[in-house]
Amino acid sequence: MKNTTHAAENFLTGTPLTIDIKSSFEQAQELFSLAGEELLVLTDGAAFKGVLRRRVLEEAMRFGLKLDLADLLEKIPAGEDFSQEALKNPFSAYVLLKKDSAKSLITLKDAFAFAWEDLSENFSLEFPEELSEICTKASEAAKALGLRVFLVGGIVRDLILKRPSFDIDLVVTEKARYFAENLAQKLGARLVKTSLFGTFKLAWRDYDIDIAQARWEYYEAPARLPKTFPGPLRQDAFRRDFTINSLFLCLKTRRLIDYYGGLKDLCAKKLRVLHILSFVEDPTRIFRAARYATRFNFAFSSDTFRALSLALKLKVLSLLSSARLRNEFLRIMEEENPSLAIIFLAENRVLNELFEKVPDKFEIKRFFALATKMRLSPAEKIEAFALFLALREKDLERLDISGHKKKALWQAKLSLKEKAAFLKDPKIPLSEKVFFLEKMPREALLAASFLDEAFILKCLKCFEIKPGLSGEDLQKLGVKQGPEIGKMLKALRAAKIDGTIKPGEEEAFLRKEFADVFSS
Ligand code: ATP
Repeated sequence: MKNTTHAAENFLTGTPLTIDIKSSFEQAQELFSLAGEELLVLTDGAAFKGVLRRRVLEEAMRFGLKLDLADLLEKIPAGEDFSQEALKNPFSAYVLLKKDSAKSLITLKDAFAFAWEDLSENFSLEFPEELSEICTKASEAAKALGLRVFLVGGIVRDLILKRPSFDIDLVVTEKARYFAENLAQKLGARLVKTSLFGTFKLAWRDYDIDIAQARWEYYEAPARLPKTFPGPLRQDAFRRDFTINSLFLCLKTRRLIDYYGGLKDLCAKKLRVLHILSFVEDPTRIFRAARYATRFNFAFSSDTFRALSLALKLKVLSLLSSARLRNEFLRIMEEENPSLAIIFLAENRVLNELFEKVPDKFEIKRFFALATKMRLSPAEKIEAFALFLALREKDLERLDISGHKKKALWQAKLSLKEKAAFLKDPKIPLSEKVFFLEKMPREALLAASFLDEAFILKCLKCFEIKPGLSGEDLQKLGVKQGPEIGKMLKALRAAKIDGTIKPGEEEAFLRKEFADVFSS
């Protein structure tokens, strides 16, 4: 790390964790414990007073000292400029001030992560033109508001991997709403969504731009949604799913900020959780892991495997709501090759936690190959897959299929099973089978594993076959309006499906088969 002096504005790391000096020991202890920080900034109103050290607070509590937080306050180097030299003090930290309030608490960890010179010099990131425009405008908006803005997450990962991406996540050190409005105006973008959690979404050309203030969070229980608060950048990195998704790219300098070795893991093709309880606090990350591992062909680090075993041992998947689970499956189905992620989940015993009977790798491959040929949408693939795995109607609910849809799919599965012999009987004309199958939801055909692929594809083609003549044509031939017309059209269509007539032979066929109708 070079000992460089940085302009203060280059070193804004987000809202420091702060507690009012009049708070109790217990309140301070709770904040330390939830955030996992070692230092809290003590304030009186907005004014910076000093810091509280975790060890000091805990010692005071252990000794049973009857004191106030003000008694435990310690002074820390602070000022409006920053040099790394300033970190050489007993706290290994420095407070960046604006007027008399604390803008950022810079720790050794921040300085190390911000040590861009070492990390990103060898990486020339190529920004497509439109992305570059977004970044430039975002930088201008940040400058106008006196804050810092970073690209974060998937977009940074994909830039390094040189993969196109249209989902952009921006993190700002403060004032996310003003920033979002300002950027929307600069780009001429639409502000499509604002949320209670202080996140904003812009739509611009093909891009979705998500904007949030850096935050820290904690989970009250496994699989719950987290409680989130404005926080420092290093906490915002730590709350993420994998190191490769925890990289920031400073838009002013276009350099990486890497708190947890994400760049190293990207180069080594490793998927690494940020901590061992990662999958326990948020089991949806298991499905995200399956997507990334298979999409990028990355291996789990040994800790990631241990984190997975722990989550499976603690049965946390059962705590996930079916809506959240469905959402994760939907994202898998949107992958270019969903079968890889599903096989990954099956082989790592994740699917077993959700479904009683899990198909083997070859059945899964067959299923997805057919789903692709059938051009099922991602949502249809989920339904087909749920039905494929379901042993009883209720099992469909696990992937949030309910009400009429659930009944219809299950009924279809039962009818198909009942008709298995009929469908496999080579003596029965194809048209009869087609007439039966076309009443079924397409997802159900895929779940009937006793039907072979060629047969299903052939039937699907037959669904499109038309009789060749219309009701009007028949009337022109002298057939009176009435039920006979429907019967004749059906017979025509059956003959076409079974290949017993050729184009142009329709009229002759009908005159022969329905001679009584024509003579009446
Ligand atoms: P993809 O290419 O699959 O869309 P992405 O990285 O863009 O990947 P998003 O779901 O858009 O994924 O999320 C954006 C970022 O938010 C992620 O890169 C990650 O840093 C963070 N993130 C998303 N979901 C979680 C989660 N469940 N737990 C922790 N961090 C998450």
